[in-house]
Amino acid sequence: MVGTEYDVIVIGGGPSGSSVSTRLAQRGHRTLLLEKEHFPRFHIGESLLPCSMPLIEALGAMPRLEAANFLPKYGAEFVTADGWLRRRYAFAEGLVPGPSSAYEVDRSEFDKLLLENATAHGVEVRQGQQVVRFELDRALGVSVVARAENGSEATFNAQMLVDASGQSSLLAGRLGLREMDAELKNFAVFSHFEGAERYAGDEEGDISVVLVPGGWWWVIPLRGNRTSVGLVMPSRNLRGQKPDDAYFAARIAATPFLKKRLIGATQLAPVRSVTDYSYVSRKLAGDRFVLVGDAAAFIDPVFSTGVYLGMVGAFRAAEAVSSALEAKRFDRAQFLAYEREVAKNVATYRRFVKGFYTPEFVEVLMAPSDWLSLRAAITSLLAGFGVAHFEVSWRVQVFRALARANKNLKLVPRIFARQPTA
Ligand SMILES: Cc1cc2nc3c(=O)[nH]c(=O)nc-3n(C[C@H](O)[C@H](O)[C@H](O)COP(=O)(O)OP(=O)(O)OC[C@H]3O[C@@H](n4cnc5c(N)ncnc54)[C@H](O)[C@@H]3O)c2cc1C
Repeated sequence: MVGTEYDVIVIGGGPSGSSVSTRLAQRGHRTLLLEKEHFPRFHIGESLLPCSMPLIEALGAMPRLEAANFLPKYGAEFVTADGWLRRRYAFAEGLVPGPSSAYEVDRSEFDKLLLENATAHGVEVRQGQQVVRFELDRALGVSVVARAENGSEATFNAQMLVDASGQSSLLAGRLGLREMDAELKNFAVFSHFEGAERYAGDEEGDISVVLVPGGWWWVIPLRGNRTSVGLVMPSRNLRGQKPDDAYFAARIAATPFLKKRLIGATQLAPVRSVTDYSYVSRKLAGDRFVLVGDAAAFIDPVFSTGVYLGMVGAFRAAEAVSSALEAKRFDRAQFLAYEREVAKNVATYRRFVKGFYTPEFVEVLMAPSDWLSLRAAITSLLAGFGVAHFEVSWRVQVFRALARANKNLKLVPRIFARQPTA
């Protein structure tokens, strides 16, 4: 390993990689970002949370985001499969003051604008460069080898390595740190439609989470009359079937709410699917490296938390890496506070996500109480303001206790007996 051309090398140019590199460049650090694709490229994960808005502002990317004219999102609704019961959480009614809207985005364009913003802030972005090897030397620094599409390889050196490679989790995979979440072994199958039914006014951009036994659908209206539709179910439910177009169409036909919203709509592309995507890395940092975003951990997307958790983690990672660079100390101990914070954020939402997969929890979610301002607290949690706010977190614990009690006590009306089988 010779010399250190860069302070930091970031692997991956998704929202986490763009955010961490922009924050580092804003602090004056020489930052190289290596991305294997050429943007724009397709990515799933289109529904943003209001709590991401201040982060986008801090990146200096708000003018680009506003210019993209994405569909504003003011709330999230949960709805039974036959549509007989809808529960809307409007972000403006949250307990914690803050932005009351976000956007439903085409990720190809959203990720591209964040990456362009990183370049504008001084990050050296190289696309079409897949990191294939890396070396971490506690004393000397890090070195990575990136392969271009033509097969040529180049080596880059730095003081620190940040892995933002998303679900491919390059470092956690190679270092044997990745642990699959056995309790959230789900798959997702999804596509885009043109001409699906929409709500009017402020509700047009709401995400609908449609409840089906064992799983859920998302309906995410996008700019230009397109709608993203996807199903998430336990992987065991596939029972040897392929989550292909025929499977997708059959599940839509078995879900009256969706069937109705998709009458006259055209599916724009064959389905895509992902399986078993919930996991966490046993370590989120080590000597000379930090993991951010999906490269560190991923929980089921039912509450649209992925982009936010990735970005907020990226901000914290940039602070930790910047301090390490200033102190010239790159051992794991420098990153323990970062690790604790990310682990806490992930654990908070993971508990809530796990609750969502039980009927007693969903029933309480569908009949939220204003007692102790619980509904407002859940609204804030759904807007992403769930972790750093004690006034939200203790109420969320009360909510979860009520959900547990609802298992045997029937605190709210039962709803699942009335649903068709998906
Ligand atoms: C079914 C599903 C639905 C979802 N819905 C939502 C949602 O509605 N809202 C939400 O907020 N989140 C959602 N998510 C989660 C969201 O997609 C992710 O959390 C988010 O994209 C994480 O961003 P990231 O930057 O960490 O990773 P990514 O966005 O995956 O970016 C990683 C980048 O690294 C690059 N890369 C990978 N390996 C290498 C390599 N070796 N060398 C160079 N580059 C590399 C990739 O090309 C990619 O561009 C969903 C996820 C799934 C699976």
